[in-house]
Parts: sequence; structure tokens; C-alpha cells
Amino acid sequence: MSAPIRVTVWSENRHEKINPKVAALYPEGIHGALAAALRTQADLEVGIALLEDAEHGLSAEVLAKTDVLVWWGHMAHAEVADEVVDAVHRRVLEGMGLIVLHSAHYSKIFKKLMGTSCSLKWREANDKERLWNVAPHHPITQGLGDHFVIPMEEMYGEPFGIPEPDELIFISWFTGGEVFRSGATWRRGSGRIFYFRPGHETYPTYHQAEVQKVLVNATRWAASGVCIPDVCPNCPPLEVLPEDPEAASRSTIAHV
Ligand code: ZN
Repeated sequence: MSAPIRVTVWSENRHEKINPKVAALYPEGIHGALAAALRTQADLEVGIALLEDAEHGLSAEVLAKTDVLVWWGHMAHAEVADEVVDAVHRRVLEGMGLIVLHSAHYSKIFKKLMGTSCSLKWREANDKERLWNVAPHHPITQGLGDHFVIPMEEMYGEPFGIPEPDELIFISWFTGGEVFRSGATWRRGSGRIFYFRPGHETYPTYHQAEVQKVLVNATRWAASGVCIPDVCPNCPPLEVLPEDPEAASRSTIAHV
């Protein structure tokens, strides 16, 4: 059996503490529900990191041992330290997978990786959401059929301020008439990124079987299994080079 995929579930853990409705839906926190869904799979080894932890739970040691990072944030995006965002960004470029959930469309790390506004329309009014599977060939949609419904969710609408996705996986339709690119992938460096829209904190979305299936599939897909550090080496030739009369006058300062 191959080595397990090491997953870190990160959350700001804030709504759960101040909104009794959210606490009732997610007594172990949103991160607890996400981790529990992933822990049903024998090939996933799941840890939790929170905003309130030292270095937000994302020390260099933790990140080095994380194959896939799952990110839920909303009201505390600004409290995430820039140094931690930079460290996560570096690991994504090296090959760590990143799954960005719901309101984390506005997280520092997603905006930095996308380089665009990541803005959208929204409405909290008990819309029904129908997610259409537009990539039935893709590993993320296996076992899901051509669509599934979330009975009540917050509406997110287009235009979504993202760069053109590498792959579009889901399109959502909402009762109010809007549509939204609810599942999309990008590659940045050696890292695979998946944005997945559902998961407003006042609905039981992460307890729904189809949503959990997407999370599990996406985690496996995002685990690239590579780590390509940014070392930019000065490289000796593989072959004997011809005499270079100007070699002595060329700068020997390392390229940085
Ligand atoms: Zn929301």
C-alpha cells in the first residue's frame, strides 16, 4: 500500500464561536466536519490547523509534511499573517495541493495565487443550489452523476473575478436565476489548486454526502506527490565547452 496522503484542514474557527446557529450545525467546528469527512478514507491522514494556533498552525515543519491543504476562511482573512501566506504560496509552487472553500475566494492566499480580484455577487436568502457536473471525465466528479442539489445555500453569482480556469468542474444554478463557476482548477508551479464554492456557515452543507465526496475526490486529485523547491542553481556544463576568451571579464556574482 502506498504512503497516505497527508492533509491539513485549516480554518479561522470564528463563526462557530460567536454564532450559536453555526455552533449547533458544527459542534466540532467547520474544520471538525471537514476533517471527519476526510478521515473516513483509509488513504488520508488528516491534521487540523487553526488561525488561533501559533503561526496559524502552519509552521514550516507542518507545511513540509502537508501534501494537500484545505482552507476555509471568511470574516478573519485580514488576520492571516502575510509571512504565513508567503510560506503557503511557496509550498503550493513546490507541489502542495490547495483546496479553497466557499468564502475563502477572498482569502489572501487564493487572491495571491490567482492575481485577480476574486470578487463575486452574493445573497443570503435560502436559495436552492443545483451543481452541474460539467467534467464527468474528471477525477473530482467520479461517483457524482450529472448534477446534485444542495437544498439551502448562500447564492454566489457571476461574474467571478478569477483567471480562466485550467478546468471547469461544476457550474451552479440558483433559485434566483444566477449561475456560478462553482468548481474550477488551476496549476501554479507544481501545485494543483481546486476552488469549491459550497459551504456557507449557517447551512449543514459539509454534512451532505455529495459535498463530502467532492472533498475526498479533490484531495486525492490535488496530491501531486512532488516537491520541486525553488533553488535556481548555477549550473556547470555537462559537456566540455569551447574556450571562452571573455570568461575572465564576466561577472561571477550569483544570479539571484
Ligand atoms: Zn458564506
